[in-house]
Amino acid sequence: MSTRTDAAPGRESELLTKVLGTRSATPLAKLGLETVGDLLRHYPRRYGDPGTLTDMDRLALGEHVTVMARVSRATVRSMRARSGAMLQAVVTDGHHELALTFFAKRPGALRPHEDKLRPGRVGLFTGVVSEYRGTRQLTHPDYIMVGLDADDAEEAMVEASRPIPIYPASSAVPSWRIQRAVRTVLDPLAEDDVVDPVPLEVRARLGLAGRLDTLRSVHRPADAREWQRARDRLRFEEAFVLQAALAQRRARAAEQEATARPPVADGRASVLADFDAALPFTLTEGQRAVGEDIAAELAEARPMQRLLQGEVGSGKTVVALRAMLQVVDAGGQAALLAPTEVLAAQHARTLRQLLGPLAEGGLLGGAEHGTRVALLTGSLGAAARKEAMLQAASGEAGIVVGTHALLSERVQFADLGLVVVDEQHRFGVEQRDALRAKGRAAPHLLVMTATPIPRTVAMTVFGDLETSSLTEVPAGRAGITSHVVPADNPRWMDRTWTRVREEVDAGHRVYVVCPRIHPDADLPSGGAAAKDFDDVPDLLELVDADGAGDKPPLRAVLEVAEMLRETPQLDGLEVAVLHGQMAPADKESAMARFASGEVQVLVSTTVIEVGVDVPEATVMVVFDADRFGLSQLHQLRGRVGRGSAPGLCLLVSTAQPGSPAATRVEALAETTDGFRLATLDLELRSEGDVLGAAQSGRSSSLRLLRVVQDADVIAQARKEATDVVASDPGLDDQPGLQAAIAAQLDDEQEEFLERA
Ligand code: ADP
Ligand code: MG
Repeated sequence: MSTRTDAAPGRESELLTKVLGTRSATPLAKLGLETVGDLLRHYPRRYGDPGTLTDMDRLALGEHVTVMARVSRATVRSMRARSGAMLQAVVTDGHHELALTFFAKRPGALRPHEDKLRPGRVGLFTGVVSEYRGTRQLTHPDYIMVGLDADDAEEAMVEASRPIPIYPASSAVPSWRIQRAVRTVLDPLAEDDVVDPVPLEVRARLGLAGRLDTLRSVHRPADAREWQRARDRLRFEEAFVLQAALAQRRARAAEQEATARPPVADGRASVLADFDAALPFTLTEGQRAVGEDIAAELAEARPMQRLLQGEVGSGKTVVALRAMLQVVDAGGQAALLAPTEVLAAQHARTLRQLLGPLAEGGLLGGAEHGTRVALLTGSLGAAARKEAMLQAASGEAGIVVGTHALLSERVQFADLGLVVVDEQHRFGVEQRDALRAKGRAAPHLLVMTATPIPRTVAMTVFGDLETSSLTEVPAGRAGITSHVVPADNPRWMDRTWTRVREEVDAGHRVYVVCPRIHPDADLPSGGAAAKDFDDVPDLLELVDADGAGDKPPLRAVLEVAEMLRETPQLDGLEVAVLHGQMAPADKESAMARFASGEVQVLVSTTVIEVGVDVPEATVMVVFDADRFGLSQLHQLRGRVGRGSAPGLCLLVSTAQPGSPAATRVEALAETTDGFRLATLDLELRSEGDVLGAAQSGRSSSLRLLRVVQDADVIAQARKEATDVVASDPGLDDQPGLQAAIAAQLDDEQEEFLERA
């Protein structure tokens, strides 16, 4: 847990232990609330109805009521049956009586109530009516005492008619206790005690309230309209801080110098020209257009910062390779970073294949002016590793492919001109930066992702990058159909394996995907795997999926492979497994045997999620499909139907019909529009998940902002933040904004460290 003692000016950095005392502050710390700022940013989850003033002769059981009454007596006593103390007060309107009950561990804790609930005093009491031994009572009511909390009865009425903030709470710290702590902290604050991250000019222009007023409104609104406006303003603030941080990143990146890598003039010899001439297909319109943008940016003396998004199979690799070749032609090197060793190896293979003789530069029989593709991963043998490092350092390899092992400080490049990051969502900002720091001048950066990203998410998560998209898939793809298969229907499952057999007999291959590796492990897990980002994923999602508690255990690779070897329909087929805990060489060999057709059925974890390319694979069976995220499933099924034969995706689900999980899987079966699915995914999942999964960080600093619904707010904040940063790049005149950005970076770094 970070304390932002030095980050936040004003009183927001003060520790709650100091302001509230240790006894009140300790339980709050369990909710992660350590400073005044933490507590003030702990916004109500919703607001309860204040309830109108109720007549004391009409107190219905279970109803939320507010009564005005006079205290007739109050006594504290220890409880005999249980340990602890109880305060019982009786209030009356002159005709009827109502009991108020408060419990505490020790009598001392009840003293504040005892002091206020003196006989003769009048107050407003709010709570839910219950009954104990024939007497109506309110347990732990909220109350406002006339003459103490309010000057007079009228003011008490105003107080009592406020919406009741309901806080994210725990059994140890109930909402009402948080409400009181917030009031204790908030009431004495003055304008200067809180520093507003939104500059005055921006507030004035957009008609936004100041931060202190906003906090008062969100924690203690007079009516619903007030807290709604306050929330809007806080959403803007979150978006603004985020966008200001991104604007600064962009500005800093733009100041960096890069080496210009202009394309070789037409007609002059170049690897790129030779490559284009030998390409067995024509580029799609999108590939050509994006390629031109990239070519122009590489020719500039400031680093390109580009995100290339495109559906699975839209042909991003060729676009990236052409960019790499332009840099090679200009005398530089390119690094291609993949999230897993399997993918890195496959990329190296694909690039060499695409390049043909052009990848044998300097070798006998190689093209006259070719280059070399080096593969550098953590699992290489010492000799191979040394060789690859030498090729990178000498510049002999124009293209170096690897996993995050490329980030190791010992890897040197002769002249790194371009970094391509494939499947970005597995890489954090810090990793990008580490690699970028490798060149003498800043290398150009191209980030590729197949996860379609709605515009505002792109603005939020990848806001420091410019975006291009490949929207069409090369012609000649047969496409894919998906069906949901209920796991508990033996006939359907039977039919599934029959279909698998038919496909194999037609010369095709089949993926079977499971969320876990070992049947007896709790989660898809494991040292090597986690390190390699292989089986990663959506742990969160697998755990959080609705009703996870009473579901059958998740299917595991090793168990399902055994089962398939015994399945009559698959008799005589070769079944292999692939998962992140296997030795890299074994993974390689499993993939190679599947690619060659020696193995027809590959049972694997989500290790195949990204980028794996076996055109003969036509069927994918996903077990526990209801436990994965939509985007992830969409990625997964993109592995089949890549050749000329149509693809089939069978989503085996244990979700109850009508449950959100079932809705998700059905949505997937119905559409292949990745963009729609990504948007739907965002709507069905919590923001934290989405942003957390998309990239490290961010999630913790966004409390109210919703990336889909708040698109307009984000766009507006982006514009304002860009202007502010443009006129004051160091934010020297905006200490509040500076502090908020620093606090956000803290969160990010913290999260990154926790993941690393
Ligand atoms: P992704 O965008 O998912 O990374 P790839 O770059 O792996 O897609 O491309 C998928 C397949 O399509 C590869 O086999 C690639 O060679 C092929 N391909 C790429 N561009 C074209 C094109 N313009 N026409 C036909 N096939 C193409
Ligand atoms: Mg790819």
